Amino acid sequence: MDAQASWTGGTGRGGGTRPDIDVAIIGTGFSGLGIAIALKKAGRHDFRIFEKADEVGGTWRDNHYPGCACDVPSHLYSFSFEPNPDWSRMYSPQPEIWRYLRHCADKYALRPHIRFGCEILRAVFDEARALWVLTDRTGAQTTARVVVSGMGGLSRPAYPSLPGLEGFQGTSFHSADWNHDYDLAGKRVAVIGTGASAIQFVPAIAPHVGQLTLFQRTPPWVLPKADRPVRRWEMALMRALPPLQYLWRGAIYCMMESRAYAFTRNVKLMARVAEMATRHLEQAIPDPVLRARLTPDYTPGCKRLLISNDYYPALNRPNVHVETAGIETVTATGIRTRDGVEHPVDAIIFGTGFKATDVLSPTEIVGRGGRSLNAEWDRGAAAYLGTVVAGYPNMFFLMGPNTGLGHNSMVYMIESQIRYVMDALRQLDRRRWRALDVAPAVQAAYNDALQGEIAHTVWQSGCKSWYLTEDGRNPTVWPGFTFSFRRRTRRVDLNDFDHVSSNPTVAGS
Ligand code: NAP
Repeated sequence: MDAQASWTGGTGRGGGTRPDIDVAIIGTGFSGLGIAIALKKAGRHDFRIFEKADEVGGTWRDNHYPGCACDVPSHLYSFSFEPNPDWSRMYSPQPEIWRYLRHCADKYALRPHIRFGCEILRAVFDEARALWVLTDRTGAQTTARVVVSGMGGLSRPAYPSLPGLEGFQGTSFHSADWNHDYDLAGKRVAVIGTGASAIQFVPAIAPHVGQLTLFQRTPPWVLPKADRPVRRWEMALMRALPPLQYLWRGAIYCMMESRAYAFTRNVKLMARVAEMATRHLEQAIPDPVLRARLTPDYTPGCKRLLISNDYYPALNRPNVHVETAGIETVTATGIRTRDGVEHPVDAIIFGTGFKATDVLSPTEIVGRGGRSLNAEWDRGAAAYLGTVVAGYPNMFFLMGPNTGLGHNSMVYMIESQIRYVMDALRQLDRRRWRALDVAPAVQAAYNDALQGEIAHTVWQSGCKSWYLTEDGRNPTVWPGFTFSFRRRTRRVDLNDFDHVSSNPTVAGS
């Protein structure tokens, strides 16, 4: 790539200003812990992890609503290098996944590297020194050669802007900020939203509340969940013969991966999914009026395809009502729908998802020449291979733009990206370069091709979802097979990058 004439910074470690740490990691979910473990395994101990909370776990720490579980089988939704023969179920509940992440932090001795209660609010690239200056909430600064963001895309709850909400006199909270002190027993509860979170907590709370009114805007497609407890002898076998667990994991991966074809290549195959989900609905909901309300009118997979065996049965309960009239306003004592009906409630629970298009906030990221990533991504996030962004050297995003999946485990994508970051570090060291910055033309060509591919996927088949920006662009999903993402991120191709040398007089390709 052409040299960036303006970029002559970088005096090298030992050649001038040394950063406080080599690698700064933000977040302690699967991404942050995963890259930290990879660094340790590579003998790179000069890193620090910044975690805004007081414990590790990311989304699996923050989401603790009743019924919270992962909708990807646990033997796949875990690190490939840290198999867990003790998963209690095929789809283990949140407390187990969170425990697993704490186990990883302990086993790999990561805690001494973690600054808990430390939220990074600003990361600014200092071009003269070719390093990042991170500022936390207290104003304290840390400099680092490399920054790896493990902030995740779904960490900030989205509250709907409903008229009258501020005047509601009852209790209200979000699924991602569950109020366990509030006793739901016997209460009249409104649930807003019918996405992946709501279909997990509605069956968990329905037997306990007095009355549950589920405000549905769009019905989800729901498939049966092949969940069951893992048998004791299966656990014992996996413990005794670890390769068995890898085989099991591989089989689950292949089964899930085969679905990518329908999501991304031949959307017509989703008709088969619609048949299966319709049969599931028909078997579970005898009332034709309720069944009609719960029947989606868009292609399965366009919004996240859900799996549950207890969601529909919960909606059959006499104390549960599915309301589709649309919310007109929230009153002091309840919710009024557009048909003029008042629904008195004691509590409102928002299952309304996350601010997925504003992934950086509240962290402000400033790159070369004072450019603002927040401003650039305001128009729709874009990166190269979901990991690096032109103008922000040595900054890596795990679970970055267009790495999301509708069909398989995100941990697989995260591990692919971790390999890529580790290769970038090796390349920097081998060549004694200070920094790598992906070339703008490479990033632009990549995204043009990506959006072209996305145009033919299920996510663009006409529904409204959190995957899309207001103008219909999709900065969220990976439009292909996960193994092709892994192949493309296997190595850093230096032809894609500009670099700055340790020798401040050398900048270029
Ligand atoms: P979501 O999928 O974005 O669903 C939000 C729900 O709230 C939708 O039903 C939406 O209706 C509704 N809604 C939003 N604003 C509304 C308004 N103003 N009035 C009425 N309804 C409104 O959120 P989520 O369920 O929290 O899931 C988000 C993502 O988190 C998932 O897609 C998944 O990636 C992840 N997740 C994963 C798991 C797992 O098991 N792995 C579990 C939970 C969440 P519309 O559909 O009409 O917009």
